[in-house]
Amino acid sequence: MTGEQSRDVTRLPCWVGGREVTDGPSFDKISPVDGSLVATVTEAGQETVDAAVAAARRALDAGWATSPVGQRGALLRRIADRIDERFDDLVAAEMRDTGKPLSLVRELDVARAAMNFRSFADTIAAEGMDSYLTDLADGRKALNYAVSKPVGVVAVIVPWNLPLLLLTWKVAPALACGNAVVVKPSEETPSSATLLAEIMAEAGVPDGVYNVVHGFGPGSAGELITTHRGIDAVTFTGETSTGSAIMRAVAPRVRPVSFELGGKNPAVVFADTDLERTLDGLARSTFLNTGQVCLATERIYVERPIFDDVAAGLAERARKLRLGRPEDPATTTGPLISVGHRTKVRSYLDLAVAEGAEVLTGGGVPDLGADLDGGAWIEPTLWTGLDNTHRTVREEIFGPVAALIPFDDEEEAVRLANDTDYGLAAAVWTQNLERGHRVAQRMRVGMAWVNTWYLRDLRSPFGGTGLSGIGREGGRHSLHFYSEPTNVCIQL
Ligand code: NAD
Repeated sequence: MTGEQSRDVTRLPCWVGGREVTDGPSFDKISPVDGSLVATVTEAGQETVDAAVAAARRALDAGWATSPVGQRGALLRRIADRIDERFDDLVAAEMRDTGKPLSLVRELDVARAAMNFRSFADTIAAEGMDSYLTDLADGRKALNYAVSKPVGVVAVIVPWNLPLLLLTWKVAPALACGNAVVVKPSEETPSSATLLAEIMAEAGVPDGVYNVVHGFGPGSAGELITTHRGIDAVTFTGETSTGSAIMRAVAPRVRPVSFELGGKNPAVVFADTDLERTLDGLARSTFLNTGQVCLATERIYVERPIFDDVAAGLAERARKLRLGRPEDPATTTGPLISVGHRTKVRSYLDLAVAEGAEVLTGGGVPDLGADLDGGAWIEPTLWTGLDNTHRTVREEIFGPVAALIPFDDEEEAVRLANDTDYGLAAAVWTQNLERGHRVAQRMRVGMAWVNTWYLRDLRSPFGGTGLSGIGREGGRHSLHFYSEPTNVCIQL
């Protein structure tokens, strides 16, 4: 895994048709660690977005859309190999943009990026042809088969919390199915998507198959891409309100959307649970990536007999987290993504207190010394004393924050956990296996874990219900979104 930096990483271009584009205005990417300038980023205007969509269309027409599946699978593996070779460059890019601890970026973000491409190379190879013989009611017989084709030019819009992981989770299946993509990374994390453009070129991906347009949402690259006539589908991960705006933007042209949106995820802890293992699991599900994971636990329902033990044990683990510079091996917890996001998280901490919360630990901005004063630091925070009627227990905060709430029996636990407009993920902690299955199946969510959290087989369906999204990603579930079947029927 040798690092090789081939260009100035402090100036980030858009990437269109295999070429860098630096025309037009630019914006600054600021470090969440200390407020320093990370990079100056070219912002895509109408002209660049038009050029990106046209480049994608040309690539499809030049043969990418009809290229053999085996060839595309081999290319996906070459991209994964090249990600491994440039592992250190990608780690540095993600760390610069997000301030995440080194170990997290290495073990989760960048490792998963390579795995995403390998997983979809396997999935596309395993996808068989769909054909069937029919006897129709009037006595005629027919042979039906379905030909899978790419949808076309897909807009890929992703957030800042797991930038490369979430980007490649969409780009890998899109390319596996023969689509061309126009990617809009978050304005907060432009680096790794730009570096991936180099990696794609090095791996031999045809020009125009992978394009990057940088910028913001409304009035910028995000809106320009979702309202563009040349886009055939939109896949989006981000906030629920943004998903709603994108749905309105594509509605006049009736384009398919795949949405992975926000969550307000519950954990349900029964009194028979293995306490130490559960506390470790809850600490991870609440504080990993400074709580900036869509699957993160923000509501913890605990059976009353062990409520005080869980509250005390989790608060102790929260206090042990080490906030600090990402490259320091002792660091467990980085900053929030930006000072702006911290303002939002802090407003929820203030609101919780106003609603009557009893703060168990945290609740403020830590003093980490003058050189980190400009960063977006926040203390891991837990509180009790609120219930499902309070805004802070209903709205997604997206920080290292959870509310602990007691319950008395299984029915009440299920009712409280499901009492939300979101429906992304849930975790059930119990030593009673039957109850684990039973309660997990009753969770109104896309993903329910028992005695673990965020354990993923990439072929299993990923996504949410309610305000948490539309559709599922993962394995063949992704292939369904990124391909369009044409049924051919022959009378025999
Ligand atoms: P966001 O919705 O603010 O931004 C996401 C992306 O959309 C960014 O690239 C942004 O520039 C773009 N965007 C914003 N407004 C737009 C518009 N009107 N048109 C087109 N594009 C627009 O989300 P965020 O703050 O970057 O990310 C945090 C959110 O993402 C949280 O709500 C979190 O739960 C969610 N998320 C969900 C999942 C999941 O799989 N369900 C995974 C990660 C994050």
